[in-house]
Amino acid sequence: MPIRAVIWDIDDTLFDYDSADREAALGHLEAEGCLAAYASPEAAFTHWRDVMERVFGRFLAREITFAEHRRERVRTILAVARPGLRLTGEEADQWYARYELRYEAAWRIFPDVLPALDALTPGYRHGILSNSGLRDQERKLRAFGIHDRFEAVLCADELGLSKPAPEAFHAACEALGVRPDEAAYVGDRPDTDALAATTAGLTGIWLDRCGAVPAPTGIPRISTLAQLPRTLLGEPV
Ligand SMILES: [Mg+2]
Repeated sequence: MPIRAVIWDIDDTLFDYDSADREAALGHLEAEGCLAAYASPEAAFTHWRDVMERVFGRFLAREITFAEHRRERVRTILAVARPGLRLTGEEADQWYARYELRYEAAWRIFPDVLPALDALTPGYRHGILSNSGLRDQERKLRAFGIHDRFEAVLCADELGLSKPAPEAFHAACEALGVRPDEAAYVGDRPDTDALAATTAGLTGIWLDRCGAVPAPTGIPRISTLAQLPRTLLGEPV
């Protein structure tokens, strides 16, 4: 069955999350007097990212809300970086908001995104399926001027479902009015994006920008979105 729709991940697929988060986290930790608690900036960022992955996992498991996950991230970081500091919920929100200002200032879209969307606009419907929060992701898409390229934007907080659950991919297909075997999903994670989409009956495509980890077998792999049009046609890149 030919592919009629492309469903996209956002972070580290359309948007350079890793660079923005690194720049913002280190600047923020320094400004808040937290960086000196770590052996090096790399150690600080490793801790920052470990805390994010762990606490975000609790949000994806629906143990806490998206807003609660932010407060928990702040408190878990500060327990190490400023052990004497005790913040109220509101103060934790403000601490996170100061990070967010830096994070938004560091937002960058990958240079291959607009050419790929232009090349794929005639002929394909486009949607978003992200494990993050809808408000944040829609702001990103608007900031990059690409929000209206997508007919549907589905995010884990509003959807109540997250990747790798097949139901999350099926909801995105339904929103675009296509069957799973008529849709491709493009994302930077081989497991929760490409493999999970394939398991759900879509064509999962792994965008491997770094070439850092072994590829799951049987999953189409591209290193730039310039290779996507041919991959959607089942042609070698
Ligand atoms: Mg991603």
